[in-house]
Amino acid sequence: MRVLLVEDEPHIGSAVQEHVRAAGHAVDWVREIGAADDAMRTVPYDALLLDLHLPDGRGLDFLKKLRRRRDALAVVILTARDQVSDRIEGLKAGADDYLVKPFDLDEMNARLQAVARRYQGKAIPTIQLGPVELEPEARLARLNGTSVEVTAREWAVLDVLLRRPNSTVSKEAIEDALYAFGSEIESNAIEVYISRIRRKFGRDFIRTVRGLGYSLTG
Ligand code: CA
Repeated sequence: MRVLLVEDEPHIGSAVQEHVRAAGHAVDWVREIGAADDAMRTVPYDALLLDLHLPDGRGLDFLKKLRRRRDALAVVILTARDQVSDRIEGLKAGADDYLVKPFDLDEMNARLQAVARRYQGKAIPTIQLGPVELEPEARLARLNGTSVEVTAREWAVLDVLLRRPNSTVSKEAIEDALYAFGSEIESNAIEVYISRIRRKFGRDFIRTVRGLGYSLTG
């Protein structure tokens, strides 16, 4: 999934971003409400991690505004230990869950995925594509019953392809998913990831549609 992190404390921000990424999600990190607002308008995020005390305003006011605009977004607020009233107000304003700083990063991932799942309806089922079995939610992959290690970036590519079954996905859409990891993308990055995935699951697993993009076969 694609996550927007709004946090002005550099240590917390980078630790959270790194940890959510390591779980295979794309994370954009901004430090102010203004930037968060811009990002929300242009990118279809699945989840928001929101600090409540930001340099240019209150996270709660931003959350209230967001909820008037859009409901289908998983929101977890990050609060300080002594701010009980913030938590209550946050939940009233439409947050799905909250974490009290300092929080355990694994717990954060678990909570984030749990609230995101509520919005996705039921968990994504296991997908069988020929000899390949994928469990995107649990980040598990098997080939002929044997588990296969798939990196976070490879999952990002697979997620884009899985979201559009039976259709061709443009290189730009895949590029966008990788770009969210915050690294610069080499011109041949897509080919590199596609060929890595093919090496793991077989040449025919991803079909190249010349001039248009890629599609999963199964
Ligand atoms: Ca803050």
